[in-house]
Amino acid sequence: MKVKNKKQDALDYHSSGRPGKIEVVPTKPTNSQRDLSLAYSPGVAEPCLRIADNKEDAYKYTAKGNLVAVISNGTSVLGLGDIGPDAGKPVMEGKGLLFKIFADIDVFDLELDTKNVDEFVNIVKALEPTFGGINLEDIKAPECFEIEQRLKKEMSIPVMHDDQHGTAIISGAALINACEIQKKKIDKVKIVVNGAGAAAISCTKIYMSLGAKKENIVMLDRSGVIRTDRQVLEKTKGEFATDRDIHTLEEAVKGADVFIGLSAGNVLSVDMLKSMNKKPIVFAMANPEPEIDYDLATSTRSDIIMATGRSDFPNQVNNVLGFPYIFRGALDVRATAINEEMKIAAVYAIAELAKKSVPEAVNEAYEESNLKFGKEYIIPKPNDPRLIASVAPAVAKAAIETGVARNAIDDFDAYVTELRN
Ligand code: NAP
Ligand code: MG
Repeated sequence: MKVKNKKQDALDYHSSGRPGKIEVVPTKPTNSQRDLSLAYSPGVAEPCLRIADNKEDAYKYTAKGNLVAVISNGTSVLGLGDIGPDAGKPVMEGKGLLFKIFADIDVFDLELDTKNVDEFVNIVKALEPTFGGINLEDIKAPECFEIEQRLKKEMSIPVMHDDQHGTAIISGAALINACEIQKKKIDKVKIVVNGAGAAAISCTKIYMSLGAKKENIVMLDRSGVIRTDRQVLEKTKGEFATDRDIHTLEEAVKGADVFIGLSAGNVLSVDMLKSMNKKPIVFAMANPEPEIDYDLATSTRSDIIMATGRSDFPNQVNNVLGFPYIFRGALDVRATAINEEMKIAAVYAIAELAKKSVPEAVNEAYEESNLKFGKEYIIPKPNDPRLIASVAPAVAKAAIETGVARNAIDDFDAYVTELRN
């Protein structure tokens, strides 16, 4: 009954009033005939001519600089799989809503009816005049890798596939902090990554940028440990193949310090968890069911640090901690890309914020009295109002330092203050 009510609530939420979740709102006065003649013909010709002279003026006279496209072909939507572009639209509208409420970024959600990589890339490339940035969403692996790689190379606005990098950035911040609390060194920890899809590959790469050593990492997919002697290996998986004589998850997790789950629900057993090294770190991020149940894991190992993708347990790895602010920072310096340095800057900004004392408003929102850096609070909560002024400036600064910013920020303190308000 309860589940049924929740499902009906969700349907009613979406269908009530004007269907869907977003709308377009004019930002200029439209009251008089004069206003309209400025907004459209004949007045509009002036900014057109300026932009025709200098394309960069689009940032001055149009909404481009604050407009992000959330683009999907619906081939890997949430945990629902390949449900197609029409069915994916509520998710893309939802992403637009989150961009707006957390970072005041406007979004057009675009659902493309194609699974062809060339066609997808060509369509998105042609959209460059419209947008300040591109958020690729819910596109299945391995196509998502090629699509993102090509668009990053061929476009001069920021492009990020959030399912890959958002998860990597947030879980990377969680991993740094979990290692610190468990007194483990990231360059020494033995890591098992269960899953070898969009999220797992990108997470593993960022953990390596944060110091994890390839020789300490074992990756598995549906067929078990990815070994160098396996016959058919996609390039993305092959990069993480091991020649160690292990084949199953059971063998892989024995003695491991860190388990990263980006695969499927309930695949990590109690016995496997018991076989991990002392003070284990388990990020069971499969949605909606984690690789091991939160209560089961924490009651099996009192020395564990556990994170999941779920909001009903501590330490939720939620991409919303990242993407609104990463794009905010990138747009504010008119970055031509979101590069590795900008992602790493976001990781450290999120990790650092978790160590600061938590505002009362955040405690209240989660009905907590004393959220404090520790095993059950390794990353900030999604509604923490300090995120924007912590993450966006870090990303903007990294863009400037790595030479991808087209706009400098002269007064960083003023920028941070502006973000806070
Ligand atoms: P994906 O690209 O479809 O990849 C899924 C991967 O998991 C594939 O490599 C697949 O193996 C592997 N896999 C599936 N069942 C497995 C099993 N029983 N044992 C070992 N490996 C298994 O999906 P994705 O986007 O990376 O997402 C993966 C999971 O992580 C989903 O449940 C998703 O909801 C979750 N996720 C959570 C967060 C979060 O918490 N913030 C973020 C992103 C993703 P094959 O390659 O052999 O098919
Ligand atoms: Mg997604």
